[in-house]
Amino acid sequence: MTAAAALDPAVVAALRGARRVMVLTGAGISAESGIPTFRDALTGLWANFDAEDLATPEAFARQPAVVWDWYASRREAIRRAQPNAGHRALVDLARWVPRVTLVTQNVDGLHQRAGSADVWELHGNILRSRCSREGVVVDDPPPGPSPPPCPRCGAPLRPDVVWFGEVLPFAALAAAEDAAATCEVLLSVGTSNLVVPAASLPWMAAARGATVIVVNTTAEGQRHGPAIHHALGPAGTVLPALVAAAWPE
Ligand code: NAD
Repeated sequence: MTAAAALDPAVVAALRGARRVMVLTGAGISAESGIPTFRDALTGLWANFDAEDLATPEAFARQPAVVWDWYASRREAIRRAQPNAGHRALVDLARWVPRVTLVTQNVDGLHQRAGSADVWELHGNILRSRCSREGVVVDDPPPGPSPPPCPRCGAPLRPDVVWFGEVLPFAALAAAEDAAATCEVLLSVGTSNLVVPAASLPWMAAARGATVIVVNTTAEGQRHGPAIHHALGPAGTVLPALVAAAWPE
């Protein structure tokens, strides 16, 4: 059975009729682009580290070179990756729905490279760096030591991502909360829905009557309920099938 055949017609109809759709994506949508999820990335040279050893302000203060080098290796992998059919299906979705709010927990910039406009990044972007003292964003860090110095003030640069224990960017979080409070359909794609506050948004939307479509390779660890529908399978297959079923051309 194809992913399209497995889609619930009521879910397809809800999507087709929606004027406001929120999409919340996580690491799973980029898995088919060859970008490992956070925990899968801690292999090889990095097998002896925990996420908490690398993705916290304390870790950066303690061992800035180790943290910078880990992010540099992920940045290179992300630069080599290409957006996949899942990212492209979301570009297509925006052609049909009057208002799509795309919110991502990913830091890889692949939605933008696929062609999505107005992407709200909840956790920043690994391709950017910023001054650890003044916050000035630097797109291309100068070559040099790990981490390189800020070209303006000389303080160490850090990745422009949100680390554990840090505050999310206010505008992105406000946009996400507003979309969750007003959308008719919410697509939750490739996220384990464990990292708060993003994790709670789909269930908030379901509680006030929105249709929630969870696109994931597993339903394990996700919530269940009358307004929550599970479209099981890889995002690169399920999302194009969903868009094609709702708007056959
Ligand atoms: P996660 O690693 O906790 O969960 C990934 C989810 O994707 C799982 O539920 C898994 O079952 C699902 N999945 C795996 N392959 C899939 C596929 N092909 N199609 C659909 N679903 C698939 O990721 P998370 O929920 O995003 O949380 C981890 C945090 O780590 C995020 O906050 C994010 O900032 C960061 N992160 C980002 C990237 C990236 O930018 N690509 C990669 C790794 C981690």
